[in-house]
Amino acid sequence: MAATTQQAATAECKNFIGGQWSASASGKTLARENPADWREIVGAYQDSTIEDVVAACDAAAGAFPAWAALAGPARGAFLHKAADILEARVEDVARTMTREMGKTIGEARGETRRGVTILRYFAQEGLREMGLTIPSADARTLMYTTRVPLGPVALITPWNFPVAIPMWKLAPALAYGNTVVLKPAGLATVTATRLVECLVDAGLPAGVLNLLGGSGGRIGSALAKNPHVHGISFTGSNAVGRQLAGEALERNTKYQLEMGGKNPVIVCDDADLAQAVELTVSGAMRSTGQKCTATSRAIVMEAVRQEFTERVVARCRELKVGSGLDESVYMGPAVSRDQLETDLRYIQAGKDEGARLLCGGGQPTGDAYAHGYFVQPTVFDQVRPTMTIAQEEIFGPVLGIMAAGSMEEALALANDVKFGLSASLFTRDINRVLQFASFMDAGMLRVNGETAGVEPQAPFGGMKASSSHSREQGRAALEFFTSVKTVTFSPAGA
Ligand code: NAP
Repeated sequence: MAATTQQAATAECKNFIGGQWSASASGKTLARENPADWREIVGAYQDSTIEDVVAACDAAAGAFPAWAALAGPARGAFLHKAADILEARVEDVARTMTREMGKTIGEARGETRRGVTILRYFAQEGLREMGLTIPSADARTLMYTTRVPLGPVALITPWNFPVAIPMWKLAPALAYGNTVVLKPAGLATVTATRLVECLVDAGLPAGVLNLLGGSGGRIGSALAKNPHVHGISFTGSNAVGRQLAGEALERNTKYQLEMGGKNPVIVCDDADLAQAVELTVSGAMRSTGQKCTATSRAIVMEAVRQEFTERVVARCRELKVGSGLDESVYMGPAVSRDQLETDLRYIQAGKDEGARLLCGGGQPTGDAYAHGYFVQPTVFDQVRPTMTIAQEEIFGPVLGIMAAGSMEEALALANDVKFGLSASLFTRDINRVLQFASFMDAGMLRVNGETAGVEPQAPFGGMKASSSHSREQGRAALEFFTSVKTVTFSPAGA
């Protein structure tokens, strides 16, 4: 029986396994509160068990041969249809996202529209070239490469981009002929369910896409270790990424990890300061600093350090904090009580280790903030490279300003962390741009732009501890979600 949206559109989000919306074998659900007002329950999702994992992986394995055998354009047609459905539901999905994880409604709408673009981009993949012809040593022989899907793949995603990240894994996985088991973050499962509904309503055959709610700590390993799973694509923390990589290696399963960041901007003495200030503040404070590409450190040349610092602090003091559903709000709450406590702990570490607090540093007060996980936009200066807030990913609205005497010193400071996800440079000097492009150890570089922000047609990913060194999105997705076969084809009887 075809599943319909209505079956899932209750406050209780079901698992989606083998074409059916179903309750977990545990009989239990987990509630999700609104981080801007914890008294509101946004929804509940299934507390899945190992039994549910097995059922989802079996369903994905059963659906794989027929899905892989479809022509690429036929698979793309489902994605086109899902894009149209999601486009019609942008407002509903965006509001769900804001209520569930707190980002502002403007950002949530933008992200949901990005989901539509991602679907349309990968829907076209079935029409693009998939291999090479290669000259053989034998002139009569045809040698070429072709690409085949991996099989059922497990997609494990974080809460901070509840549409974009599941979508930039789902869309290529499906387009190239894989079947999927999606395990979204517990803090964003209601939004993920809205997303899956769009694909289900587009008519995907049963078993091609399966959704599991539940706790990653409880079911994540079982999913990664399931013998049907031939690829694991993970975005999230380094600790979980390391565990999954170990589990994938044990079975020699292909895996891909995108993890944390500690992203710098370098502000040179010739920068357009108005631009540098606005984009630094936006990179640091939008989404409450909860982007893997958020700006965490501003490394500023001495000649402009004081003016830059004063302008950043003035701008941060103007930012309106509050519920993301209020269109005039710039920054919503932290996603959870745990994340709020983490932010406050790092702010305390900054103070204890001798950084100078210039603004923020705590929770805003007043009735509007009484029932939410709000934290103030926070700026420190006099941050030294050995300090905790200069080294560790905070994932909150906390910016540390550091001084540099030269471009070489700025680059050395920028590279002096274990992460290498994104970095920005503000300058008008072409030689500095070339130096930055050559020597900045990060996967995503921007000149006169903010550290956050990606385009779905371009490869995305980090260096150093930020990634398993694979890339997502654009044509790079083909590298992960397919295997290459080399075919050598000679005349019979030769
Ligand atoms: P997380 O705690 O690692 O969770 C990510 C996903 O892994 C969730 O679905 C989670 O499920 C699941 N999980 C948790 N424990 C697991 C386990 N033992 N085995 C298997 N799966 C498990 O990360 P997060 O807090 O959601 O996200 C924040 C992190 O993601 C930050 O470090 C951020 O930098 C990173 N991130 C990176 C990128 C990038 O592209 N580089 C993009 C966005 C975010 P539960 O939710 O049920 O625990």
